[in-house]
Amino acid sequence: MSTPKILILGAGYGGLMTAVRLQKQLNYNEAEITLVNKHDYHYFTTWLHEPAAGTKDPDQCRVEIVDLLDTSKVKFVKGTVTEIKREEKNVLLQSGESLSYDYLVIGLGSEPETFGIQGLKEHAFSIRSINSVREIREHIEYCFAKYKMEKRPELLTFIVGGAGFTGIEFVGELSDRVPELCKEFDVDPSVVKIYNIEAAPTVLPGFDPELVNYAMEVLSRKGVTFKISTPIKECTPEGVVLADGEEIKSTTVVWTGGVRGNAIIENAGFETMRGRVKVDPYLRAPGHEDVFIVGDGALIINEETDRPYPPTAQIAIQQGENLAQNLTALIRGGELKAFVPALKGTVASLGKGEAIGLVGDKKIFGSTAALMKKVIDNRSLYMLGGLSLVLKKVKL
Ligand SMILES: Cc1cc2nc3c(=O)[nH]c(=O)nc-3n(C[C@H](O)[C@H](O)[C@H](O)COP(=O)(O)OP(=O)(O)OC[C@H]3O[C@@H](n4cnc5c(N)ncnc54)[C@H](O)[C@@H]3O)c2cc1C
Repeated sequence: MSTPKILILGAGYGGLMTAVRLQKQLNYNEAEITLVNKHDYHYFTTWLHEPAAGTKDPDQCRVEIVDLLDTSKVKFVKGTVTEIKREEKNVLLQSGESLSYDYLVIGLGSEPETFGIQGLKEHAFSIRSINSVREIREHIEYCFAKYKMEKRPELLTFIVGGAGFTGIEFVGELSDRVPELCKEFDVDPSVVKIYNIEAAPTVLPGFDPELVNYAMEVLSRKGVTFKISTPIKECTPEGVVLADGEEIKSTTVVWTGGVRGNAIIENAGFETMRGRVKVDPYLRAPGHEDVFIVGDGALIINEETDRPYPPTAQIAIQQGENLAQNLTALIRGGELKAFVPALKGTVASLGKGEAIGLVGDKKIFGSTAALMKKVIDNRSLYMLGGLSLVLKKVKL
């Protein structure tokens, strides 16, 4: 029998974890493993709110993929996937190259969900990659510089659409950066406005109310104005129009209101809900024993609440570990193990030295939570790249 080909698409938390675990578990002649990614680096998506606001260098948030791979066991291909051909069992890249597989792992992450809100795609920024956050950071600095010349208040009005995890973490960082920018550009801080606009009746929907109140208090103190139960109706080049008719002028709208699975999955003909495939207990796409989905593209239901688990890096990493074990079992003829998330808690940063979180059923606040956030970030570095990655990128 020929050596089975495992093709992994995407070197995010899910895809990369699958690759690094497979290279540990399999001998070099047991499978031909290929990892494809758009860039030759992996970025820490969970840190991206920091370089977006300019509180961290984007280079600190990425690592060369080959530095994490044993290239005698995993071949890395830098390429952009354009199409998955399920029937032919191959994948097309933008370069025109075609890669065949016996087992396919899809870990292509997510893209912004705009819920049909007019103009968001065209006029709003999103926090989704190193390139996108570089653009946001540069744009914010440009707005400060331009304000000095034109004195238009909309240049220093920043709108963040969505007060979920990403939105809250971003306004926390932005409110830390604003005083620095005001100093650098000689701007009166009272001119700067940060709005966080949310359609749901609360920020951080689903979080404990005591933690939500703490987050709102800290961020309001740092200069964030919340508008809750206020859906954005339209985004225009001039700002946003809210459902209640109010218009807020702004040259910077950052949309963090939700994500959907990468469109490549839907375009390949898999049945999806908001671009995510409801996978079986072994992370397979229904009807496809050879196609596995990890990370934001996989939809799994939390049986306690009967609702989908939110897409998180925590789950993506655990799925990668489980899938590597199952692919090893498939190749060696062992038993498959169902994926069951082991949730360790959630911590949301509110900027420097402040955070909130739930660890087990214990609520944590302030500096304790901020410290826990760093422990979590450093732990995921360790999972992906061992001690050497922690030493390179450690969060102190
Ligand atoms: C600002 C922010 C903060 C967050 N904080 C947390 C947190 O604290 N805790 C938590 O658990 N989760 C957090 N999340 C969510 C978490 O980052 C995602 O759930 C996680 O990254 C999903 O992992 P993934 O492997 O599915 O995709 P990703 O990590 O997004 O990786 C997808 C990979 O696929 C590549 N790719 C995409 N399209 C193509 C293509 N066509 N061809 C080739 N390669 C492609 C991308 O370049 C990328 O490398 C946060 C998200 C954001 C944006």
